[in-house]
Amino acid sequence: LAYTGTYTAWSREGIVSEVKQQMKTSRFEHVLRVEQCAVRLAEKYGASAEACSLAALLHDYAKEHDVEEMKGIILREGMDPELVHFGSEIMHGPVGAYYAEKKFGITDEEILNAIRQHTIGGIEMSLIGKIIFVADYIEAGRTFKGVEEARELAGKNLDEAAYYKIEKTIIHLVKKEVPIYPGTIYVYNSWIQRKA
Ligand code: GDP
Ligand code: FE
Ligand code: FE
Ligand code: FE
Repeated sequence: LAYTGTYTAWSREGIVSEVKQQMKTSRFEHVLRVEQCAVRLAEKYGASAEACSLAALLHDYAKEHDVEEMKGIILREGMDPELVHFGSEIMHGPVGAYYAEKKFGITDEEILNAIRQHTIGGIEMSLIGKIIFVADYIEAGRTFKGVEEARELAGKNLDEAAYYKIEKTIIHLVKKEVPIYPGTIYVYNSWIQRKA
């Protein structure tokens, strides 16, 4: 998949090698599997494969970055200050979107939002946003209980697959007895209210 220059001046190969340097090999391989899955979903659901490839390659860009550095970016850029209480798990999406814009020159809001929202989802998600959110959850290396059902849903209805991830993630967090970021609850509420 050669990039056309529509979304960034970087080549796909340039991005791949830059991303590879930012993380351990196992995570880099996850990123490549998310890309593969996202491109497949893009073809199925009629999204831009190039936009989905780019969002997928960059979605976990900041995941292993220094937490204090991430907090600095969040506060300086006026992002939700609550984010800093939730660690890299929650901060790496919004901070990744920041790098997508500042370092890779991406201005397309659907791509930036897809990166920003990939962990918790969004009250409003574009097609690209849903694709990245779901691809991150069902990529070929995921093995958790329920992933097969999520894959089946993704083959039939992207909204149902996204809702499945939203619901299962909340259940998983409660069972793990970890704090839930308020935005995660807002997203859950908006999706369940729309469903009813
Ligand atoms: P990854 O970056 O590919 O590992 O996956 P994600 O970005 O989707 O998720 C990162 C982690 O954040 C996962 O372990 C999620 O279960 C976790 N997570 C999602 N929402 C919340 C939340 O509200 N609170 C906490 N503490 N963790 C969350
Ligand atoms: Fe992530
Ligand atoms: Fe993920
Ligand atoms: Fe990921």
